[in-house]
Amino acid sequence: MDDADLLRSLGVDPSTLDPAPAAPWRIAGAERLDGRHPCVRCGKPATLVGIVDLPGYGRRWLDRCMPCLLATTPRGKPQAPLADTLAVLREAAREAGVELTIVADES
Ligand SMILES: [Zn+2]
Repeated sequence: MDDADLLRSLGVDPSTLDPAPAAPWRIAGAERLDGRHPCVRCGKPATLVGIVDLPGYGRRWLDRCMPCLLATTPRGKPQAPLADTLAVLREAAREAGVELTIVADES
């Protein structure tokens, strides 16, 4: 997913985002997390900041909160089927002599 796809998935018009500086931007980004910038998706104070770079708009700040980041981040397909992963975890727990409780959500 490129920056244009990300903004489309968020329903954000890039022209509404604040212009962002050129690198290095991490200090300016950290200063942005002062509670004054709302999440572009839900409007709550942003807890994460990133930069998107779009033709015609340049670098723009993308302010989000963690729940919205997680809700809009595509999840890749697992590298191994869940059953295989669980078998490895159970074997490791058996070898370590510890009791293991696994809670998984396959969605
Ligand atoms: Zn949000």
